[in-house]
Amino acid sequence: MARKKLANLAGGFKARYGSTLRKKWMEVVRLSRATYDCPRCERNAVKRVSLGIWECTYCGYRFAGQAYAPTSVR
Ligand SMILES: [Zn+2]
Repeated sequence: MARKKLANLAGGFKARYGSTLRKKWMEVVRLSRATYDCPRCERNAVKRVSLGIWECTYCGYRFAGQAYAPTSVR
């Protein structure tokens, strides 16, 4: 398998918007795809459903959070 370029994470921006902004965007994408601790069952199973909507894949608890992270606390 070919080595995946880092830029692939940046959502098809190619050479647009500058490298600094793309790196920041990549960090946001990485955070939005990570799993977080569920506030109800406390398992690390919370995933982003859509913008600002988070759901625990374990207990099904769905709640509103920030757009790219469930809470402001990392
Ligand atoms: Zn849960």
